[in-house]
Amino acid sequence: MDKSIRKIVIVGGGTAGWMTAAPLAQRLAQHPTHPCEVILVESPEIGTIGVGEATLPTIRFYNGALGLDGADFIRKTKATFKLGIEFKDWGHVGNRFFHAFGDFGPPLAATAPHMHWLRMAQQFERMPDLENWSMPSVMARHGKFVPPNEETPGMTDAYSYGFHFDAGLYANYLREYAVKHGARRIEGMIVDVEQHPESGFVTAVKLRDGRRIEGDLFVDCSGFRGLLIEGTLQAGYEDWSAYLPCNSALAVPCASVPELTPYTRSTAKEAGWTWRIPLQHRTGNGHVYSNGFTSDEQARRVLLDGLDGAALDEPRQLRFVTGRRRKSWVKNVVAVGLSAGFVEPLESTSINLIETAVGKLLELFPDRDCRPELADEFNRIMGSRYESVRDFIVLHYKLTERDDSEFWRYCRNMAIPDSLRHQIELFRETGRVAILDRAGFAEPSYVAMMMGLGVTPKRYDPLADRVDIRVVHGHFAELRDMIAQAVTRMPGHGAYVAGVAG
Ligand SMILES: Cc1cc2nc3c(=O)[nH]c(=O)nc-3n(C[C@H](O)[C@H](O)[C@H](O)COP(=O)(O)OP(=O)(O)OC[C@H]3O[C@@H](n4cnc5c(N)ncnc54)[C@H](O)[C@@H]3O)c2cc1C
Repeated sequence: MDKSIRKIVIVGGGTAGWMTAAPLAQRLAQHPTHPCEVILVESPEIGTIGVGEATLPTIRFYNGALGLDGADFIRKTKATFKLGIEFKDWGHVGNRFFHAFGDFGPPLAATAPHMHWLRMAQQFERMPDLENWSMPSVMARHGKFVPPNEETPGMTDAYSYGFHFDAGLYANYLREYAVKHGARRIEGMIVDVEQHPESGFVTAVKLRDGRRIEGDLFVDCSGFRGLLIEGTLQAGYEDWSAYLPCNSALAVPCASVPELTPYTRSTAKEAGWTWRIPLQHRTGNGHVYSNGFTSDEQARRVLLDGLDGAALDEPRQLRFVTGRRRKSWVKNVVAVGLSAGFVEPLESTSINLIETAVGKLLELFPDRDCRPELADEFNRIMGSRYESVRDFIVLHYKLTERDDSEFWRYCRNMAIPDSLRHQIELFRETGRVAILDRAGFAEPSYVAMMMGLGVTPKRYDPLADRVDIRVVHGHFAELRDMIAQAVTRMPGHGAYVAGVAG
């Protein structure tokens, strides 16, 4: 008996819904022998959250797998390039550092570059900041951009990049793609969910106008409300507010300034932080804060006072509870996007978690039995991805030396997960980075964040001592010159974007 899935219903048409529909339609909808209907239901009455505008470099693999044309994507989504995040006032007021998508040059004698830097810093009091050996950090500081040479990478190509884009335009872009590849869009408000009386599998969703949409597999992309995964299947939610106390955000676009920066900026404030995301046609801004430590009105003032152009709208208020669904695949329902969890937008990880979830759904694609073993495997992978993102974000708050507000005092003193405590102590004592999730942030990200926030390891890899110090010295001097020369020759980010967008 053929048990293949013949109809997939995606509930929700935000970034998660269309990022799910596009690859499912591409892979499954128009198959000559095993076609599978891909239906997406969305309600304009509810609308989308629409603020996810900064991404990680992995978005390029997602776009690449769909075969999107790079220049067309940049034009249609008003995108700019992102080399990383500039952090201001995080470690202490006046502190500034860059978390770049890249390493601090190549390894030397198979030992990580930061280990050699630590050795040099112990011997030479005036060793310049490690950031000077990060190609993307130097590019960002000078407002320059070109993509790295990925075919035959040289010493200065050890970097990557993501994008900033208009979230609404990106969802529209993927919608066009998904529909062209056979997905069907239905507009309507879901008011009821039907389940099989014995198995509990979801069998159909009912719309307010009486229409009934049946399916074999349901993907819940309904946002924070988790219409199917929580509303119907009560998967449960693990609340991480004790580690991540921010629960509110205000978002507002403002007019662009002439210099188009190739990075996101995150500035710590009294009870949270603000973001600044440059797009071609406007700048996206927001203030993420805890309303337990400040008022909405004060948060609004902090946001509006920090804009570098005229506000183009009224700030939009959002509330959230950081955490994750205990299980994001239950029976024949898979939650993707905010319905599966949310860990703060500080490192632009939500869209990356959507990419992972959609990729894993395709890798573990079920038949109509939806074997629970597949769900267990999906939940195991996604659970550890969410937890490693949580730990990385908690690190940003925990390592602060700020004590100028109740909020920062709370963060300094709060209990943290044991997994993160181990990572911090290991780095502080030995300079080693414990990577607990190979699909998550890599060693240079931890090095940039921990050193940027003021943790200088007490020791370095003893194998670094086996390299002649003159060789290390020469390496650092040569690489710094190469970076400086390469960056001088590069176009400004604005000029590069204009060249691509046409
Ligand atoms: C303040 C903030 C800043 C963020 N910044 C970033 C960032 O820089 N980078 C990043 O990667 N991520 C960011 N995110 C996360 C990102 O916005 C989301 O991951 C992304 O937008 C996906 O949202 P979604 O599609 O899951 O939900 P939503 O956008 O909320 O979409 C939900 C969809 O479900 C539909 N729906 C709900 N109920 C029903 C119903 N009853 N009937 C029919 N349809 C229904 C709605 O119509 C809508 O289409 C941010 C989030 C917040 C809160």
